[in-house]
Amino acid sequence: MKGHGIGDNEGLRILGTPVGGKQFTKDFLDHNVTQQVESFCEAVEALGSVQVGITLLKHCTGLCKVVHLMRTLPPTTLGDLPSTVDEIVLQSFQTISGIVMTPLMVTQVRLPVSMGGFGISSCELMAPTLYVSGMIAYNLHGMALIGTPAWISCLPMDLTEPLQRISAFPGLRPVVDLVSQPALTPEMVKYKEHKEWSQLMYKYQFQQLVASSAARDRARLVCLHNHSSGAWLEVCPSTQLGLRLSNAEMRVLIKWRLGAPLLLPELQHKCPLCNGGMDCYGDHLVGCPRNGVARRHGALLNLISKYASQAGMPHVIDKNYNPDSRQRPGDIAFTQWNGGERLYVDLTVRHPLNLSADWGKVKQGIECLEEASKEKETKYQRIVNLDEFMVFGATTFGGLNEHAQTILLEIGRAYTTAAPSEEEAMEDQCHLNQQLLMVLNKEVARMLRSALPQ
Ligand SMILES: [Zn+2]
Repeated sequence: MKGHGIGDNEGLRILGTPVGGKQFTKDFLDHNVTQQVESFCEAVEALGSVQVGITLLKHCTGLCKVVHLMRTLPPTTLGDLPSTVDEIVLQSFQTISGIVMTPLMVTQVRLPVSMGGFGISSCELMAPTLYVSGMIAYNLHGMALIGTPAWISCLPMDLTEPLQRISAFPGLRPVVDLVSQPALTPEMVKYKEHKEWSQLMYKYQFQQLVASSAARDRARLVCLHNHSSGAWLEVCPSTQLGLRLSNAEMRVLIKWRLGAPLLLPELQHKCPLCNGGMDCYGDHLVGCPRNGVARRHGALLNLISKYASQAGMPHVIDKNYNPDSRQRPGDIAFTQWNGGERLYVDLTVRHPLNLSADWGKVKQGIECLEEASKEKETKYQRIVNLDEFMVFGATTFGGLNEHAQTILLEIGRAYTTAAPSEEEAMEDQCHLNQQLLMVLNKEVARMLRSALPQ
């Protein structure tokens, strides 16, 4: 504000953004952002609930708290604000979860939930792209008002520094290459929405994370990269809706998702249930035949049956439709599938990182379900027409096969026809998926905890 007669300590807050002297802006950011984020995190930690704490960190602080300022203030003005906010939120995540994270775990935590992360985005990473996208949007608004087509020439701010930083990020080089193009181009109008940038950045971060990880972690990350695995992290923690996880369940599930060892890696472990050899990550425990595999199977089957009943879909479970298991193709028989046909559904849960499996072959995370489907089809083809048979497959990381998704969609559709609006129908559908993943994860948590010192 030099030359405008405004002192270092003077300024105004305009539409939530400080406009004024250097000290004024610094004090504004300290008081309105850093201190508030700190107090918020302290209050969240004091709640004493891991599930509520992690949910609040994801939705109510960090990037979502500063996104407006980052779109309106140049990164040089923000100074170290983005990295400070990142550090406070990360510390809080570690305090709440009780896990001291490695740098690779931090990268994973910062990815979106659908890419295996926890949705705790990094402000520092996003600072230059947020500002450039903000300025493109600002310029388009201005252009609409004054009606000039020369949008690049009327860009209001010096974008050199943020563009240089973007250009230095390998995942964004195809968009901004300052060697061959000096500044913004009209094609970049589509990047007024920040999600266009962030998707490219997350994709690159994920690839880098996979490339830097050991074999088990590479396979684990692939297994978590889908839209169903993290549904349990997206719920509103509610006891009434059956969407609540205890602190012990949350802590073990966070470790499981991050690939942190549950037991000391340097020691040899024996499974207390079957006396067999056991790894430190839980790969043995989620498949150990003495660890309540049938209980997990039953819990998922009951949930599917409960929702099918509520949706008014006639079906029969298990022994009730044929006492002879050799004559029973699956766990549940829908008698009027698609308005009239019969459908037999066999439910199976598999662990993709089974100790005898080749982890290098995990490319999508659901290969083990494809194998399971083939096994089941071969087993039952003599007693059932395969057109009337589906394998509902889920992995221990929450991946679902195509048949599982089809079945959930059909039940969801039938369930939601009674919903008064499209919005409520979508909520019901989402709730069904969340319930399923919640039940699955509760069971996985139980199995993982069975060998831990209580
Ligand atoms: Zn065992």
